[in-house]
Amino acid sequence: MDNEEHRSTRRFDVIVIGAGFAGLFMLHRLREMGLSARVYEAAADVGGVWYWNRYPGARCDVESLQYSYSFSHELEQEWVWTERYAAQPEILRYIQHVADRFDLRRDIQFNTRVVAAQFDEAAQVWTVRTTTGEQSAHFDEQTGQWTLPAEAGQWVTGGFIVMATGALSVPRLPDLPGMQSFRGRVYHTGAWPHEGVDFTGVRVGIVGTGSSGIQTIPAIARQAQSVVVFQRTPNFSIPAWNGPLKPDDEKAWKSKYREYRLRAREVGTLYEFSDKAASQVSHDERVAEYQRRWDKGGVNFVHSFNDLMIDKRSNDTIAEFVRTKIREIVTDPQVADSLCPTDHPLGSKRICVDTGYYGVYNRENVKLVDLRKTPIEEVLPNGVRTTKAFHEIDALVCATGYDALTGALLAIDIRGRGGLALTDKWAHGPRTYLGLMTHGFPNMFVITGPGSPSVLVNMIVGIEHHVEWICDCLQFLANKGLATMEASKDAEDKWVERVNEAADRTLLPLANSWFLGANIPGKPRVFMPYVAKIGVYRKECQQVADDGYVGFMVLPPQRTAAEAKQHATIEAISSYP
Ligand SMILES: Cc1cc2nc3c(=O)[nH]c(=O)nc-3n(C[C@H](O)[C@H](O)[C@H](O)COP(=O)(O)OP(=O)(O)OC[C@H]3O[C@@H](n4cnc5c(N)ncnc54)[C@H](O)[C@@H]3O)c2cc1C
Repeated sequence: MDNEEHRSTRRFDVIVIGAGFAGLFMLHRLREMGLSARVYEAAADVGGVWYWNRYPGARCDVESLQYSYSFSHELEQEWVWTERYAAQPEILRYIQHVADRFDLRRDIQFNTRVVAAQFDEAAQVWTVRTTTGEQSAHFDEQTGQWTLPAEAGQWVTGGFIVMATGALSVPRLPDLPGMQSFRGRVYHTGAWPHEGVDFTGVRVGIVGTGSSGIQTIPAIARQAQSVVVFQRTPNFSIPAWNGPLKPDDEKAWKSKYREYRLRAREVGTLYEFSDKAASQVSHDERVAEYQRRWDKGGVNFVHSFNDLMIDKRSNDTIAEFVRTKIREIVTDPQVADSLCPTDHPLGSKRICVDTGYYGVYNRENVKLVDLRKTPIEEVLPNGVRTTKAFHEIDALVCATGYDALTGALLAIDIRGRGGLALTDKWAHGPRTYLGLMTHGFPNMFVITGPGSPSVLVNMIVGIEHHVEWICDCLQFLANKGLATMEASKDAEDKWVERVNEAADRTLLPLANSWFLGANIPGKPRVFMPYVAKIGVYRKECQQVADDGYVGFMVLPPQRTAAEAKQHATIEAISSYP
């Protein structure tokens, strides 16, 4: 496949990879700028996470009125959400509606996976290799690998590439001894069968008690004959108290949508942020506040006081409140004890929002196996054996998460200047400037990548910011007649330092979380997202732009390799302060 005859001569101003929330908005804005763009998407349709994650119970945990695009006033007014937290089918319908309303599909090539991208220094373009066909999106549940066809595919070139590949789009299967021998069906929540799964009369084993597990366990338990949850790490979860969205509440919210959206640009999601520290109020006041917020439900709970993520003793008080709730809800004290998280501060792993999670363990058909007490010894053809017992199951559901933030980027063979592989450059952890670009890879932008607030904020707010920033940057380059832009090494080094320092000021690095790659064996332990309010980060990015894209190196167009050598790199301004 690596010969010239298969190379297409197609050339676009911008190639976008991924057609989730990020890729779609990117395409829309590029079109508005009059640029030619092509989106490549491995799936058969738009949606990203919401295309793949069709497991029972899948829904957003940022309220739907906020977990939606803000770029079109008409769109936000006309779309009607039915629930406080929309379920996956409704979010997917919304994304499909956006694709139709803005006529986006005609520039998206579906069932097409990008497998390689190489920067051509002389021509100052990216050459991208794709594979096409049904197979391009096939996820093999047994091996945890994407199967790619040996032949087919095309080469295209683009002046710029935008990685809208998703922070949580590469599912990760558990590495359980003997897993290959299991004869029942294996499902991953992040690659769920489109036709759905009927668990009636089925004995189901579930591995993974993070966000997806906590959402799906109660839903599967309602249908299956029995459910055995194999729990390695208990997690904190807050009740969603989900329900239908009252038309009056929706109307009231929509009447102030502009004001709320502007505020969201500063804070990500509108919560009741407290200006009080838990350490400065009495025990009774703390508990009353935790209870008030617990009764309202959702992530708002975590914002009860302003020191919870920086003061371990304060965090202990909110963690203990949740543990008390678990002991109240779960009738078997031993099960309750196993469900109580004690090894990480609340909020240092992604906080979960549930519908009936802890209560599900009171059902007769649900059993919890605490793997810290009785680890799995082996998966057998018909079940799972722990050090204490054998559990016969017909199906295994893996809610074991993703190779987060870097997985989708490193799955592509990306080569920058001088053939530098991104996998080599990031061998000890991802390095970016502003989370948007990485040194050595000119004209490659990343949306919600490592080094940006990414998964720590309402991601649609982050996505819209990145897209706008990238478009402004493309406009700047066009206005100045420049062809390439690249993060300088110095600016990148300083940014990485800043990202590390920001994380170290909080309790976040204290957990073995996927934020620092702890769920993937061998992955470098680096805290990847930038712990900053989106408004603070937005200002930092804006300042860089206002100062003439300080910390980025730019080059004018070059016609020949010989000419290229003559051009000295122009540092817009030498480095980030
Ligand atoms: C179950 C679940 C619930 C979530 N709930 C929330 C929430 O409530 N609030 C919140 O803020 N965030 C939530 N998230 C995070 C979610 O990732 C973002 O909100 C958002 O959907 C990300 O959009 P995206 O377009 O950046 O990425 P994605 O939606 O992941 O889309 C990326 C797309 O790129 C495609 N792709 C990747 N690599 C390639 C390749 N090499 N070639 C071609 N195509 C490729 C993928 O197929 C995918 O369709 C949730 C995530 C999950 C998994």
